[in-house]
Amino acid sequence: MTKQPRELALLAESGRLLASVFGLLDRTALAGMSTLQVNEMVERFIVHDLRARPASKGQYGYGFVLNSSVNDVVCHGVPSQSEVLRSGDIVNFDITLEKNGYIADSSKTYLVGEVSPAARKLVQTTQEAMWKGIRAVRPGARLGDIGFAIERHAKRNGYSVVHEYCGHGIGRKMHEEPQVLHFGKPGTGIVLREGMVFTIEPMLNSGRRSVRTEADGWTVVTKDGSLSAQFEHTVAVTASGVSILTLRPGELG
Ligand code: MG
Repeated sequence: MTKQPRELALLAESGRLLASVFGLLDRTALAGMSTLQVNEMVERFIVHDLRARPASKGQYGYGFVLNSSVNDVVCHGVPSQSEVLRSGDIVNFDITLEKNGYIADSSKTYLVGEVSPAARKLVQTTQEAMWKGIRAVRPGARLGDIGFAIERHAKRNGYSVVHEYCGHGIGRKMHEEPQVLHFGKPGTGIVLREGMVFTIEPMLNSGRRSVRTEADGWTVVTKDGSLSAQFEHTVAVTASGVSILTLRPGELG
């Protein structure tokens, strides 16, 4: 379950490239774009500018390079020409990128135009929850410490954590061991060791945590129609703590 230094260097390179994809999205005015247009823009950038492979395309029969999850969509939203982003929407873009055989995975929820204070707070709290989880990563800590930190922050702010989807080990394959739950008890689960690489990607709902999958077989929505947000980074356990492989320049302020 641990990676060698050579593999870690390759994963860091994939992570750096993927961070630059989010840099592109950060510079893009999303209002008025369809989620399919965003998908096409990202695909061109990954393939032509970065000379990398969009790892989601073709994986599990999926036809796009990203998932676009708008408002009450929890995850796995499918880009569409008819889905045009409007001021007030929140949208998560979840993207994977493979370079030299190694895959990085990251997602970010964007505020489109003028967003309600309630939606803004959900998005901000979800990002904070991800950071709480990342800060729990160090050699000797346990997986349960990560989930506990995330869920505690969500609950303190009145939000629920989706249980059906979790973070995952990542490397040559998009989904490897271990599963990284976004809830749990401190001091439980496997012990983290230097060289482990996995994602932390909490999904928080403003209402109840229950979800359902729509008829397309992909799109997961909140059962109660409440808003949902998500953030994700790929991280590596280092000798002294954690390295965030998909960190964007300036992200930590
Ligand atoms: Mg993931």
